[in-house]
Amino acid sequence: MLNIIIFGPPGSGKGTQSAKIVEKYNLVHLSTGDLMREEIARDTPLGWEVKKYIDKGMLVPDEIIMRELYEKASEHLDAPGLIFDGFPRTIVQAEMLDQMLEKHKMPIDVVLSVDVSEEELFQRLMGRAEDSGRSDDTAEIVLHRIEVYKEQTLPLIEFYQKQGKIVSINGMSPVEEVFGKITTAVDTYLETREIIPAIE
Ligand code: AMP
Repeated sequence: MLNIIIFGPPGSGKGTQSAKIVEKYNLVHLSTGDLMREEIARDTPLGWEVKKYIDKGMLVPDEIIMRELYEKASEHLDAPGLIFDGFPRTIVQAEMLDQMLEKHKMPIDVVLSVDVSEEELFQRLMGRAEDSGRSDDTAEIVLHRIEVYKEQTLPLIEFYQKQGKIVSINGMSPVEEVFGKITTAVDTYLETREIIPAIE
């Protein structure tokens, strides 16, 4: 099994890269953002609840995220591997994920941290706002999401550094180039079980 976390601020290209990784390595894509948006689209009480947080650029409470994630992940425990996209976003989520994976003897192999400067993030997210139709892509909310990322999600880098699993990927280049760096990191891991700490 190959279990990957793709980690990065909003606008770092996680979603785009995840789709390419899924295809190349035949993994199941678990995006908590997508799970939340599906719930909203289905117009369920849970969807109404999570929309309140998403529209403000806040994180959805850990209990909700964990419940939805467990449910989805448990459908795919026999998959060749999983890629977690936009999850975990807090230390509590990361600890709970470790517990869940330990129980099933399927640890995280690699944590891909896609690095993009703050200025570039803002430009990209505002560009995306024009055609995404996402209600959380307005200037004020975008800035808030970047702040929330710095406060609540960035500490995860240290968490996974301590586990020796982080690969920092320079995400400032075109999509295919970034994907090339990702495949170098993953292929090296598959061949040698070694983590390259950073790929410029
Ligand atoms: P994303 O598509 O990953 O950028 O997620 C969009 C929004 O969904 C985020 O801004 C959060 O409000 C919510 N969300 C997605 N994943 C998580 C998570 N792991 N923890 C908390 N909130 C999340």
